Amino acid sequence: MAAVAGSLVGGFGLLIGSFLNVVIFRVPAGRSIVSPPSACGGCGARIRPIDNVPVLSWLWLGGRCRDCKARISARYPFVELLTGVVFAAIVLRFAPWEALDGSVPQMVGALAETVAFLVLAAVGVALAWIDLDTQRLPDAIVLPAYPVVGALLLVAAATTGEWGSLLRAAAGGAILFAAYFAMAFAYPQGMGLGDVKLAGVLGMALGWLGWGELAVGAFGAFLLGGLFAIGLVIARRAGRGSGIPFGPWMLGGAALAVLAGEPIWHSYLRLVGLE
Ligand SMILES: [Zn+2]
Repeated sequence: MAAVAGSLVGGFGLLIGSFLNVVIFRVPAGRSIVSPPSACGGCGARIRPIDNVPVLSWLWLGGRCRDCKARISARYPFVELLTGVVFAAIVLRFAPWEALDGSVPQMVGALAETVAFLVLAAVGVALAWIDLDTQRLPDAIVLPAYPVVGALLLVAAATTGEWGSLLRAAAGGAILFAAYFAMAFAYPQGMGLGDVKLAGVLGMALGWLGWGELAVGAFGAFLLGGLFAIGLVIARRAGRGSGIPFGPWMLGGAALAVLAGEPIWHSYLRLVGLE
């Protein structure tokens, strides 16, 4: 069941990744994500359906436009592959099929929880790339994530009776939002309001999973971002004052916490002798 669900949801993730490429390209420019259809940036030719198959089309076209032979960035298949892998990892992590033996509400709850994290993954991939490109986290993507993820977690709590998890989700969202707000206030060059708004929705999702996951996600962001910044300074690619977008590290830390937060948290507690 795991192999079937992993490949099905992973394949679905490739398609979502293809759509995210459009989102990443058009949302920062304020353009519609539904029309016009995708076209070559070089010659303007419409992308044929056969050339729009995630990853494979890029490979068999040799990374070039069929019409004008302009190079197509390897980033497009990479975003598709990344989304596919993250989707597969999430469905394997939550294993919603295990609830198939339970009652109908339990099945609905397991499904709602999984979908909440898949939505967050799609939003996260788009935001990480937009932040790298433009150093912005558009409200048009971050703000709708609150009601969508919140409603799915509410359904999961109502069907499984895990109201404690929902309460912790609300607390986690408030804690991360407040912490990032304080940092943005104290150090506006390093942290923007976009980061603050993203922190709230990530805190909500991580809080739903547990306090350990919330801690791993929050500190993971600074660990990953800090290591990257040190690497940049060592490579002399950045001075002390140069802006490094923080969104990708917040999302990377959150992904780490969702997929492996529990074992990481317990190894940490053992390391400091608290367990
Ligand atoms: Zn072309």
